[in-house]
Amino acid sequence: MSQWITVLGATGSIGSSTLDVVRRHPARYRIYALTGFSRIAELVSAAIEFGPRFIVVPNEVAAEQARGLLTQAQQDCQVLMGEEALARVASDPEVDMVMASIVGAAGLVPTLAAATSGKRVLLANKEALVMAGPLFMQAIRDNGAELLPIDSEHNAIFQSMPVNYSGDFDEHGIEKILLTASGGPFRNKTKTELLNVTPSQAVAHPNWSMGAKISVDSATLMNKGLELIEACFLFNCRADQIQVVVHPQSIIHSMVQYNDGSVIAELGQPDMRTPIAYGMAWPERIDAGVKHLDLFDIARLDFVQPDHDTFPCLNLAKDAFERGGIFPAVLNAANEVAVAAFLTEQISFLAIPELIEQVMQACPEKTVTCLDDVLGADRWAREQANALLPSYLLDC
Ligand code: NDP
Ligand code: MG
Repeated sequence: MSQWITVLGATGSIGSSTLDVVRRHPARYRIYALTGFSRIAELVSAAIEFGPRFIVVPNEVAAEQARGLLTQAQQDCQVLMGEEALARVASDPEVDMVMASIVGAAGLVPTLAAATSGKRVLLANKEALVMAGPLFMQAIRDNGAELLPIDSEHNAIFQSMPVNYSGDFDEHGIEKILLTASGGPFRNKTKTELLNVTPSQAVAHPNWSMGAKISVDSATLMNKGLELIEACFLFNCRADQIQVVVHPQSIIHSMVQYNDGSVIAELGQPDMRTPIAYGMAWPERIDAGVKHLDLFDIARLDFVQPDHDTFPCLNLAKDAFERGGIFPAVLNAANEVAVAAFLTEQISFLAIPELIEQVMQACPEKTVTCLDDVLGADRWAREQANALLPSYLLDC
C-alpha cells in the first residue's frame, strides 16, 4: 500500500529533491499536499505532475493565480491558503509522513502540527527544532510520532548511532559526536578579505546546492551553530559532547566516537536525496538516484579546526544553547533578520554576527513552557534586530 506524503516547502531545494525521490517510487509514495510561498507557477507544475489533493499558498492573490493555472491544465486539485492550511495538511489523518522543508521560523507551526498528530516527521527545517527544541521533542514522544533527521549531518549521526539509542551517551559508550562542516565558500578567508563579499559570493557553496538562506548560514558558520543545537536536541546531549570538524570535501557527513576507540561515520555524495530517501524508507533503503561514491575519485579527505575568530556565529549558537530558555529562538530570529538584510545588500557580511550578538546581549533570561513563549521570543528578537539594523546599514 502506498504512503501519503505532505511536502511543506515543495518549491524549494529540499522540496524538489523530495519530489525527485517520490518520482522514482510511484507505487510506494503518493503526494497528499504540496505547499509553496512565492513560486506559484512551480508549485502548480509539481501539482500537475504529482496530482496532490491539496496545494497550499500564502494568500488570495496566489490562490487566484494557482486556480487559473490549474484550470488551464484541467488539473483537479483544491487550493488552500494561509498558515492554518499549512498545519491542516501536515496533520490530516490520511497523511503518513510530512517533509518539513519550509525555510526558517515560518516552518515551526506546521512542523509541530505534524509531530502533535503522530506523523513520521522528516525534519529538514532545523530552525523549527532550534527554536522550540524541548517542546518539539516532547510533542514527538507524547504523540508517538517518528522523527527522522534529514539534515545530512544529523542523518549521518542517526545512522552511526546504536539502533536502540536511548538518549543516554553513557549507556551506549558514546564519547562524542563529530559534526562535520564544509567550511563554506569563505573557508580560509581572513576578516579583511570578507569585508566586501557579496550575496552572490556567499550563496555559491562549493559542495551543496541549497536555498539562499541556508547558503549564507553555511558561509557564516551559523548553519553549523544551528546544527550543533539541532544535534543537542535530537540526540539529547550537551554542547561540549559535540566537536565541529571542518571537512572541506563533504564526503563524511558526520561521525560518532565510542569509548572503545571506534568512530562510525556515514559517507556519501553531497546530495540531499540520500538522507531524504533514507528518512522516507527507514528502516528500509531505496534507490535515491544518487551517483555512487568512488573513493579513488575522491582520493583524500581533510580535517581542520574551525576558525572561531573569523566566524563567530558558531560560538554564538553554542552560547545560546547553553543559556537555554528563549535564547536559541532569539538567536535564530536575529539571524533570519540579519541574513535577509545581507541578501538585500543592506548590511555587510561581517555585520551578521555583530547584529546577532547585540540582540543576544539585550535578551532577558526567560524559560519556555509553551509555544507562545517561543513565538513571543521570535517576535521580540525580530523587533530588536530591525531596530538595530539602521546602525549597520551600508552606504549606497
Ligand atoms: P529554499 O529556500 O530552497 O526553499 C524554502 C521553501 O520554503 C520554499 O518552498 C519556499 O516557498 C518556502 N517558504 C519560504 N518562506 C515561507 C513562508 N513564510 N511560509 C511558507 N513557506 C515558505 O530552502 P531549502 O530547501 O534549501 O531549505 C529548506 C529547509 O531545509 C531549511 O530549514 C534549511 O535549513 C533545511 N536544509 C536544507 C538543506 C539543503 O540542502 N537545501 C540541507 C539541510 C537542511 P517558495 O519557494 O515558493 O517561495
Ligand atoms: Mg547540514
